[in-house]
Amino acid sequence: MLKAVSGSSDILPQAKEYPFREPVFRYIVKTAEEVLRGAGAQMIHTPIFEYLEVFQKGAGSTSDIVVKKEMFVLEDRGKRLLALRPEPTAAIVRAYNEHGMKVWPQPVRLFTWGPIFRGERPQKGRYRQFHQVDYEALGLADPVLDAEAIALMVRIYKALGLQNFELRLGSVGDPEDRARYNQYLRGLLLPHANRLSPESRARLEANPMRILDSKDEQDQAVLAELGVKPMLEFLGEEAQAFHEQVCRYLERLGVAYTIDPNLVRGLDYYVRTAWEVHHAHVGAKSALGGGGRYDGLSEMLGGPRVPGVGFGIGVERVALALEQEGVAIPPDPSPILYLAPLDEAAKIEALVLAEQLRPKAFVEIGYVPKNPRKALEEALRRGVEYVGFLGENERAKGVVTLKHLPTGEQRELEPLQLHSLFEGPR
Ligand code: AMP
Repeated sequence: MLKAVSGSSDILPQAKEYPFREPVFRYIVKTAEEVLRGAGAQMIHTPIFEYLEVFQKGAGSTSDIVVKKEMFVLEDRGKRLLALRPEPTAAIVRAYNEHGMKVWPQPVRLFTWGPIFRGERPQKGRYRQFHQVDYEALGLADPVLDAEAIALMVRIYKALGLQNFELRLGSVGDPEDRARYNQYLRGLLLPHANRLSPESRARLEANPMRILDSKDEQDQAVLAELGVKPMLEFLGEEAQAFHEQVCRYLERLGVAYTIDPNLVRGLDYYVRTAWEVHHAHVGAKSALGGGGRYDGLSEMLGGPRVPGVGFGIGVERVALALEQEGVAIPPDPSPILYLAPLDEAAKIEALVLAEQLRPKAFVEIGYVPKNPRKALEEALRRGVEYVGFLGENERAKGVVTLKHLPTGEQRELEPLQLHSLFEGPR
């Protein structure tokens, strides 16, 4: 028997674990959508695949996505290489340029949600297909947009009912600041290269900053011993002023944050503002989401300069956090009426009646005729308020026998009476 690919999951109407439970999933996406729409962002959907270059050029040559070959790449019939999207931002910037959004009122604030694909080693909280809610504000380089994006992200977590999360804010500076910092790191770490993990050693040349992000204990010990200065101390004047503005704006907004002087993000395109939201109890994979500013991304894709700032929220990670905090997910509405055919001929009558009452009333029907006792059991199992029996007797009289389950009261109603009962105010 074939199974789903490891690291990918079915999201089911009922499932034990929160990340694979559709009502939880829908709750997260709907809540995020309400917050973002309520803040004036508009929804966009881009294809789940793009030409490989969009992500290769976008993510940058030293990102994990490119270096560790984390992209799922396919070849079309014309031998063009395509990639399943490993992140949404580059695709949205591609769409912004392709559709001339530069002439729309700026900034253009967009959001989306959908599947993301990364060829990582699957484990709890880390999948090869996962989902993100994503927000991007494009076309204006102003710290007020960074502060707004951060505030919106935090508001989504709060609206979901989460409490034990922390916003970590940093700045990765401008490209020239990073170049200076990388040079400093190279100089400091090169004499100790043999004590670093192979992965970090490989990063020493291309992007030593990413070594700070290493999960390797020995790497972290070396960094601690050398007393490495953080990126934040290398910000140029403009990046520093921008960072301070973002902090001030967040304070004005009452958004709590901690400064993470070493925050580095996995993609090369980030400049200046970078942030992550972590949850206390989701374990090693604690990032619930991350964001940042990416003013150079559009140019990396061959477009004009389009500054931007945005974030991605990991839906499955948030589901894990909700599960951990024991947040109750609002239950789906249950049907009000269960129409039970008592014989074969009544099946279609039940369906006709149900279709007339829907969608004003949430009506379910029995598809297999049952005796009244079995039909009642079925109705109780579905949690309805009313059960309607349709059999030979009812057919002869042109009525439905309607039982109100909470009171046990039973009466025969004609279709018109039924309509006024379920379609009008009760
Ligand atoms: P990133 O673009 O890597 O910062 O990802 C944004 C968010 O998506 C992270 O903070 C996680 O919540 C989530 N995420 C990233 N990678 C995975 C993965 N492999 N599986 C599940 N969630 C992920």
